[in-house]
Amino acid sequence: MPPRPFGLYVHFPWCSFRCPYCDFAVTTSRPMPGERYADAVIAEIRLRAHAFRGRTCATLFLGGGTPSLWEPAAIARVVEEARALGLPGGAEVTLEANPESCDADRARAWRDAGVNRVSIGVQSFDGAVLRKLGRRHGPGDAERAVREVASVVGNVSVDLMYGGRRSSVETARADAERLVSLPVTHVSSYALTLDAEVLAEEVPFARLARSGKLAFPGDDEVVSQGRAIAAVLEGAGLRRYEISNFARPGLESRHNLLYWRSDDYLGAGAGAVGCVRTEEGGGRWTNHRSVGPWLAALDAGELPTASEERLGPSELANERIMLSLRTAEGLDVAWLGPDRHGEVAALVRAGLGEIRAGRLRLTLEGMDLHSAVAERLFGSGGG
Ligand code: SF4
Repeated sequence: MPPRPFGLYVHFPWCSFRCPYCDFAVTTSRPMPGERYADAVIAEIRLRAHAFRGRTCATLFLGGGTPSLWEPAAIARVVEEARALGLPGGAEVTLEANPESCDADRARAWRDAGVNRVSIGVQSFDGAVLRKLGRRHGPGDAERAVREVASVVGNVSVDLMYGGRRSSVETARADAERLVSLPVTHVSSYALTLDAEVLAEEVPFARLARSGKLAFPGDDEVVSQGRAIAAVLEGAGLRRYEISNFARPGLESRHNLLYWRSDDYLGAGAGAVGCVRTEEGGGRWTNHRSVGPWLAALDAGELPTASEERLGPSELANERIMLSLRTAEGLDVAWLGPDRHGEVAALVRAGLGEIRAGRLRLTLEGMDLHSAVAERLFGSGGG
């Protein structure tokens, strides 16, 4: 078998402002040393590339932060570096963008730099919901951004967020309805997360929610909002191919599918994460989240790794179960050890999963309980 391809993720941490729910590696410091940052990203990619020798880069994802604030010339240099790792012409190259930094001129510059997919952080088309999320754009900015970018780049994904203050089943449904009237090929629909166990760092909304100063919708309400969005998107022909992701046929995110299929990825940039697996196990690294220490390491010719995690066979198997069950492709039941087939049957009997073509896929009810369902199958697999 030819070696599995890998994805390249590049993190650009600068944002215009910090949203009060965001736990990504983000900075609002100025000036943004865009060219110097590109030099360092390229240096890191070259240092890390030896771990991927003999393998081809299949996708590039420029995430953040707000990489649409990066100079297009710097983006073009990163795309070129990915080409040197084998990224084919026409392969998916995604740029994350905020509505405020989207217009047709910029979209043309991104396209000329090699970007062929733009993911826009719309979050909502409801002015009150956006204000309560602390976002600075309005519904009109979001719609204009989608239309202008789509007219140039064509392949536009939109992020929607539900479960915030002022969100309701009605606002969630209205957001999805407005979205499907726009030229959008893909939607990522996520609930606002303020759970300290999941967040990478403390964020203002989580602190205020804990102290009772801000109230957010309860779990059942949040599930209902997510279901209202899913119903509209699926009704409009966007297939739910992952718990939180919907796409027109053939326009699923190739890069994100690579994560969910347990393929490897080279992460570069402040706060980026990367993962390489071998027969014996695997390793995951996390870079310094702050630009200063990340740059200092690269200036010294060293890897900017803040922490590393060794992944043994059972951890890799559990991760594969967790990730596969997020997707409509599901989990290969034959790959699970026979000792887990009884548990699979119990999940099907409980209405949490179904078997199609030898693969276990979660039902709507199963998706809402995804982590708990996956954990019932842990400790098996690897065949
Ligand atoms: S724009 Fe995105 S990355 Fe930047 S602070 Fe807001 S949520 Fe975080």
